[in-house]
Amino acid sequence: HSGFVAIIGRPNVGKSTFLNRIVGQKIAIMSDKAQTTRNKIQGIYTTPDSQVVFIDTPGIHKPQSRLGDYMVQSALSTLNEVDAVLFMVNATQKRGRGDDFIIERLKQVKKPIFLIVNKIDQVHPDDLLPFVADFQHTLDFQEVYPISALEGINCDELLSAVVKQL
Ligand code: GDP
Ligand code: MG
Repeated sequence: HSGFVAIIGRPNVGKSTFLNRIVGQKIAIMSDKAQTTRNKIQGIYTTPDSQVVFIDTPGIHKPQSRLGDYMVQSALSTLNEVDAVLFMVNATQKRGRGDDFIIERLKQVKKPIFLIVNKIDQVHPDDLLPFVADFQHTLDFQEVYPISALEGINCDELLSAVVKQL
């Protein structure tokens, strides 16, 4: 199992924390996948039988700034080049405009999209279901994973599910 996975989410949801936890420092190989993805590689997760290249999607998660069409189109084309998308949200904050901005763009993406609900160490379990439901009626997610990137909760399970998808 190997492939390219984009990770997207508004600032401070925990994308870097997650990547730092799961990703090895060593960049093993470069695939001949589209050129445009190469300079956005953030890290590679490797096991004996799998390799997942994580791609950053800059531009699309900055709804505050006025984006040129180029940035948005570039981010969108990245989303269409990868094999799966991880959309990370923050369980401690209600769905907001930053999330909705991304969701609107994800509606054009014809790839499996995983909803990653991060920071579950900070919320009561009873609050999780309504939180997830609030996102699920906006988009058809392949799978939903509540995790804590900081504490490592459910991160291995998420990775296994992503690898299986590739
Ligand atoms: P990014 O902007 O999406 O890359 O977010 P960062 O990875 O930089 O994280 C933003 C802040 O959230 C940092 O202070 C992290 O320590 C914190 N954070 C990330 N993941 C978790 C988590 O699972 N639980 C808690 N409590 N804090 C987290
Ligand atoms: Mg970051």
